[in-house]
Amino acid sequence: IKNTTVPNLDDSIDNTKEDEEDVVDLAANSLLNKLIRQSLVESSHRVEVLQKDPSSPLYSVKTFEELRLKEELLKGIYAMGFNRPSKIQEMALPMMLAYPPQNLIAQSQSGTGKTAAFVLAMLSRVNALELFPQCLCLAPTYELALQTGRVVERMGKFCVDVQVMYAIRGNQIPRGTDITKQIIIGTPGTVLDWCFKRKLIDLTKIRVFVLDEADVMIDTQGFSDQSIRIQRALPSECQMLLFSATFEDSVWKFAERIIPDPNVIKLRKEELTLNNIRQYYVLCGNRKDKYQALCNIYGGITIGQAIIFCQTRRNAKWLTVEMMQDGHQVSLLSGELTVDQRASIIQRFRDGKEKVLITTNVCARGIDVKQVTIVVNFDLPVNQSEEPDYETYLHRIGRTGRFGKKGLAFNMIEVDKLSLLMKIQDHFSK
Ligand code: ADP
Repeated sequence: IKNTTVPNLDDSIDNTKEDEEDVVDLAANSLLNKLIRQSLVESSHRVEVLQKDPSSPLYSVKTFEELRLKEELLKGIYAMGFNRPSKIQEMALPMMLAYPPQNLIAQSQSGTGKTAAFVLAMLSRVNALELFPQCLCLAPTYELALQTGRVVERMGKFCVDVQVMYAIRGNQIPRGTDITKQIIIGTPGTVLDWCFKRKLIDLTKIRVFVLDEADVMIDTQGFSDQSIRIQRALPSECQMLLFSATFEDSVWKFAERIIPDPNVIKLRKEELTLNNIRQYYVLCGNRKDKYQALCNIYGGITIGQAIIFCQTRRNAKWLTVEMMQDGHQVSLLSGELTVDQRASIIQRFRDGKEKVLITTNVCARGIDVKQVTIVVNFDLPVNQSEEPDYETYLHRIGRTGRFGKKGLAFNMIEVDKLSLLMKIQDHFSK
């Protein structure tokens, strides 16, 4: 964090933060993705499967009927509008529902149907007549736990006797309470507290253990260790499932520590490419010039929809104010907004109510706004040592090869920053 401003009495805390770049908050991004998601994300890649026992037959299903689910669960799935399993579900569901239960590590990008898959597994293994916790799902934040809970409630709409409870901070349950709900969703710290200190949950009776968003989880101080302590107290026959949107080495190492004898399923992400993007740069003297250059192309960019990226909150705010004062209709998406506010801004943009969105890097990753055809880098993305941030550049303007519509990118460059652009040019050979 580069903020070295000393706050004085006139400076609100927010103002002192304006020079900062918006830090990418994994949990917030993940939540945002869920809030604005409308449908499944496709991938043209094949699902890779690594079985713990390579000699056992590999099943995949093309319909939900083949899974022989309880009637009320199948009704719930169809009521959600699912017609057939997603790509990852085709492989994961038969494994998750097999008897005897098998452990699974699954990785695929957000929006490919992981949550729906493990919710289905939990609902199908639960015995509604037994009134104690049987399924335990760990999530990295309160809000993400609630999102998963909503899916359980929707899919389990016709499983009338199955109930969900949230083990999250603020949910005060008196010691000695007899928990009769079958599915517990919570954050690691509170779950640990409920299990060991307050003895509200008997871990030896858990049949399905889910660790969701493993990549976000290990990013949070203490959560890996707490999750492992919980996992160690589960019975050996408990089914253990781990999900992650990404799979760096650190996630993989954690997954192997916490899930014994797993099957592994992976679905690679559609790669970003610059092939179908035409990239331009406009050489400018200073920020005012950049603004003028932007105004010059404004009429053109609002034929479609555009995202304009700035490096700092301050710059983004400045640009928004300037454009509004000149009578342009723009909206601002930046890190000081709550996730709910961000979701509603993105939704308005998607609905075409706004044509131009000004933002910092909060929005560069993970959020796909399909109809965007023009991207303006009002500032080039740079890292802490003022070198070009190639990956962010790619995320801002890259498109997936397979679904690629053609796009346009404009880079506004101050003369003294031209060398950054040349490095980007060399890096991508474009
Ligand atoms: P992930 O957990 O990988 O982010 P989700 O399970 O949340 O993915 O699914 C992403 C979106 O797709 C959700 O809106 C969900 O309701 C929907 N979805 C999931 N599975 C299916 C399916 N088989 N058919 C249609 N839509 C689905």
